[in-house]
Amino acid sequence: MMQSPVTPTIPLDQDGVNHGYLRLPHSRDDSAWGSVMIPFSVIQNGPGPTALLTGGSHGDEYEGPIALQELATTLQPGDIQGRVILVPALDFPAFLAGARTSPIDGGNMNRAFPGRPDGTITEKIADFFQREMLPLADVVLDIHSGGKSLDFVPFAAAHVLDDKAQQAACVAAMRAFNAPYSVMLREMDNVGMYDTAAESMGKVFVTTELGGGGSATARSIGIARKGLRNLLVHAGILAGEMRIEPTQPIEMPGDDCFVICQNAGLFEPLVDLGASVSEGERLARIWSVDRTGSAPVEITSPRDGLTISRHFPGLVNPGDCAMVIGVKGK
Ligand code: ZN
Repeated sequence: MMQSPVTPTIPLDQDGVNHGYLRLPHSRDDSAWGSVMIPFSVIQNGPGPTALLTGGSHGDEYEGPIALQELATTLQPGDIQGRVILVPALDFPAFLAGARTSPIDGGNMNRAFPGRPDGTITEKIADFFQREMLPLADVVLDIHSGGKSLDFVPFAAAHVLDDKAQQAACVAAMRAFNAPYSVMLREMDNVGMYDTAAESMGKVFVTTELGGGGSATARSIGIARKGLRNLLVHAGILAGEMRIEPTQPIEMPGDDCFVICQNAGLFEPLVDLGASVSEGERLARIWSVDRTGSAPVEITSPRDGLTISRHFPGLVNPGDCAMVIGVKGK
């Protein structure tokens, strides 16, 4: 297969602190021989494991970019054994636009894997991570939150995998990240995900959903900051003790955990995030936007559980995910 058009401006395997860019040629109206310049850092001290830490895979999710900017500025080679590769905004064009997907090609970075070296900008970035970055890593963390259209209880997540030893290693890393909730995550649509790419290579992989609404809070950033540090200690890269607090395990036993709107309208949540709900309990009402006097459509819970996600904007459309119901696990 052809070589990736992405070129790192710094070495990936040199001791010390290196801050640079992943440079991807992008010829366009305002810069004929221009490039997309994705900021990244490599902090290395001798042999040891490699952690690949990314945020901004969706450009409207901010805990990752903020916590990784801080870590890139503060982590010293003397603190670690091995290597930490930090990419605060994997979909840098989307991050600059404050959008979930790329303004250049409409691509969704977390549905673009394995990518193509001769594809769109999004596919070229995905291909570079698929073939050049993921193979370097022992542990992979991709920090997400809900973006503008979803909000979540703050959780770290692992997936159910065929390889149970790998699954156990991912679960241990998720527990080390130690968000307030720890979810065995069922994906609605896992084709093309970075998660799937990393897991298919046998990597220890952790993802998160730390909040949402297109912003970040002091609390959600603090969860990212602590989780990053804990994960590096867990991986044997950073010296020190993990800071572990109680976490609520959550499972997602079926596709009916995703509660999907079938009507357009004005969204009235009747329960907030983290609420315990019973099967058949009303979760939300959808009111008409264009007339008064119409009864609202009610959305009820498909099972006993806990609300772990909700639609964020005030208006909904058919097909929107209204809420996600998780089940308390052990
Ligand atoms: Zn995301």
